[in-house]
Amino acid sequence: MGYRIGMDVGGTNIVAGIFDADGKLLRRSKTRTVKSSSNELLEQLASLCKELLTVEQISEELLISVGIGLPGFINKETGLVTAANLPFNDIPVAERLNVLIGVPVTVENDVKMIVYGESLKGAGKAYSHVLGITLGTGMSSAWVTNGSLHGGAGGLAGEIGHIAFADIPYVCGCGMTGCLETVVSASGVARQARDGLAAGWVGLLADRFPSELRDELTSKDVWQAYMDGDAFAGQVFQRTASWLSRVIIPSVALLSPDVIIVGGGVAAAGDVFFEPLRAYVSENLHPLYRERLLIVPTLLGEDSGIYGSAEYAARQRIA
Ligand SMILES: [Zn+2]
Repeated sequence: MGYRIGMDVGGTNIVAGIFDADGKLLRRSKTRTVKSSSNELLEQLASLCKELLTVEQISEELLISVGIGLPGFINKETGLVTAANLPFNDIPVAERLNVLIGVPVTVENDVKMIVYGESLKGAGKAYSHVLGITLGTGMSSAWVTNGSLHGGAGGLAGEIGHIAFADIPYVCGCGMTGCLETVVSASGVARQARDGLAAGWVGLLADRFPSELRDELTSKDVWQAYMDGDAFAGQVFQRTASWLSRVIIPSVALLSPDVIIVGGGVAAAGDVFFEPLRAYVSENLHPLYRERLLIVPTLLGEDSGIYGSAEYAARQRIA
């Protein structure tokens, strides 16, 4: 049993961590993502691994696996990776990194790795059936039951952000109209606020974001305005919770999770989002679910993904 590395490769930053055989995080690093070319990004990932080994004074032979989580689609048959916010377009990332690093490399979708990490070491640690949802730039989900990740046919399970509703008017990045992620992701929360301001909302948010600054408004600004007493900002989170409950309710009936873990920028809003979410979900479910269901935020912050990818890769190797 040796050391393992996990990396969460985002469009802006890379978080990397080295773990011992017991899954204890020894050291982590955070770096800006190099996006100039696929070769340079692969070189960057390889040198991040080497740096972690050097700083921890661990010899290369003791590293058993490297796990990568990234925001993209991984073709399970060919190993080709395509990621819109990274310079990967049909690139065999695992195979290329394996040559550069010399150990088996596993590449998976970042949300799956975040949820996997939370299910093993974070908010889902005490439970067997974990549904995780992230509300960041986009919206996605993953399902872990008894420690194993459910990929579904083609590895496509979990794309709940692209369930469309007739009363959502926005065109999504995927090309469809009405996708849930256009309103409940962090970008969606900002969009709701911008639309409200355009329709004439008054208050703190309106004072802080006159029309010329409106494009810069983020979900964090909406939350800050709520904390400072803006009533409209609070309503944005309530409406977001109501929309999200539309997919959580059937998911609970279908899967019966012990816990639903919600992460990403929107979840950082805390009670103003979680309290109405729990209420909407609870009101519309059979009492049997209501008594046991928990809906909680993630616990490991920006390290969820490295815990998940490191452990996932190590288990793939052992299996
Ligand atoms: Zn969509």
